Amino acid sequence: MEPQTPVGEIGERALIRHLRSRIPSGPGVIVGVGDDAAAVETGPLTLVTSDTLVEGIHFRREWSPPRLLGRKALSVNLSDVAAMAGLARYATVSLCLPPDIPLAFVDGLYDGLLERAAETGVSLVGGNLSASEDRVVVDMTVLGQGDHLVRRTGGLAGDLVVVTGTLGAAAAGLRALEKGARLDGDGDLSNRGAWPADAADGLVPCLRAQLDPSPPLAFGRALAEQDIVHAAMDLSDGLSGDLLSLCEESELSAWIEPEWLPVDPCAAALEKETGGDAFSLALHGGEDYQMLMAVPPERVDALREVAGVWSVTLSVVGQFAPGAPGLSLRFGEAMRKLRPKSHDHFAGRERRREPAPEA
Ligand SMILES: [Mg+2]
Repeated sequence: MEPQTPVGEIGERALIRHLRSRIPSGPGVIVGVGDDAAAVETGPLTLVTSDTLVEGIHFRREWSPPRLLGRKALSVNLSDVAAMAGLARYATVSLCLPPDIPLAFVDGLYDGLLERAAETGVSLVGGNLSASEDRVVVDMTVLGQGDHLVRRTGGLAGDLVVVTGTLGAAAAGLRALEKGARLDGDGDLSNRGAWPADAADGLVPCLRAQLDPSPPLAFGRALAEQDIVHAAMDLSDGLSGDLLSLCEESELSAWIEPEWLPVDPCAAALEKETGGDAFSLALHGGEDYQMLMAVPPERVDALREVAGVWSVTLSVVGQFAPGAPGLSLRFGEAMRKLRPKSHDHFAGRERRREPAPEA
């Protein structure tokens, strides 16, 4: 089959045969691709999570090389399993493809998917193919094994708000894409867009953070062996919106100290170049796929040790407090109410998020 052949000409059965021939088997897979359902071993608990990437909503074909799209589709699901202190084991992928999509696009997507799966010990065990009118949809489900889960509930007043890594890079990468910067399928810069040559250093890390995120998977999983973290979730929608979610589930309020935010240095450099400030990207921007945790103050040093093993950095950015779910920014002794902003997929834009009404 020629790479440029549209999938509509190849036909569903031949495309399935082709993709199936690319999928290796893996440990714990009793029945893999090809039967009515897969059969796999997990336990003692089975974690299940799904995430969908829709063309025009979550990605654009002109700025997402298919290989990176495949990697990201899996990574965002792996992030959710790690945020529960679970170990991702198996994945299924359902693709909706417009008939004019070339085989090369689908193979590129599978390149990324299978490569990321191999890196993380995940077996692809099934999925589905469907035609769509004009948009690519990549819908994945990941199964993981869990034992000692870390949930969003369980945070206590006095716990510190702790995040991994740096924040704002993925949002800065999205802005860079909007201004014409591009990566090729290998993750190398193919177009600087609006940026001068001397400002291009920060571009690649931000574009990669957006197009090929790498959540702290091993660190998340390691939390199952430690009784350190009271509550956790991954940062997909942005710190302010996600912290409000954690507050709601743990029935707490929280404050953030602006100066403590680990603003990504590359995001800061890019924003400076365009006269902006990366602080709001770190506070509200989504898709960093770092972890957000509620940690008792006396356990933060122990958590830093675990993080150090996995080369993950930690930042204390605030504290949980008693009270109705809501957020504040702390400036010295003064507290200012913080209205979270999150991306609203149905509105297709950023929307202020209000705390859920109290029951
Ligand atoms: Mg999540």
